[in-house]
Amino acid sequence: MTCIFCAIAADEGSARVVYADDAAVAFLDIHPVTTGHTLVIPRRHVDDLLDAAGALAEVAPAVEATAALLTHRLGADGVNLYQASRAAAGQTVFHLHVHLLPRWAGDGLISMHALHAREVADVEATYQRLLG
Ligand code: 5GP
Ligand code: ZN
Repeated sequence: MTCIFCAIAADEGSARVVYADDAAVAFLDIHPVTTGHTLVIPRRHVDDLLDAAGALAEVAPAVEATAALLTHRLGADGVNLYQASRAAAGQTVFHLHVHLLPRWAGDGLISMHALHAREVADVEATYQRLLG
């Protein structure tokens, strides 16, 4: 098996699984960004969100259950979700996964709102492109 996350879904290897159901598995990231940083994957292999064909919905109950587990057991004040699809977005493991990042008030992790100073397209122009 060449996909490391398929191996984890098949219970091969040493992943620290914290939640599992029929469709999804949640396990601790080996390089945590915050304490309790967890990945949720569909059991079936899909590469990314553009290849998902319903897989995101299949992992949704596991994402919710894991968020509750992380906040209750670790005492987190909040949770960020992060998902990278394709290399340009920073994806490094090409089996769909949702990152759950437990957060604590004042933990200093960079906020998305800190990125507003960059050059991005005007909202109205973007809207017109999306309308086609
Ligand atoms: P990405 O960069 O694709 O959004 O996230 C991939 C994540 O998978 C990284 O945060 C990385 O630390 C984690 N990771 C990579 N290989 C393994 C592994 O074998 N086991 C676990 N538990 N996490 C992994
Ligand atoms: Zn896979």
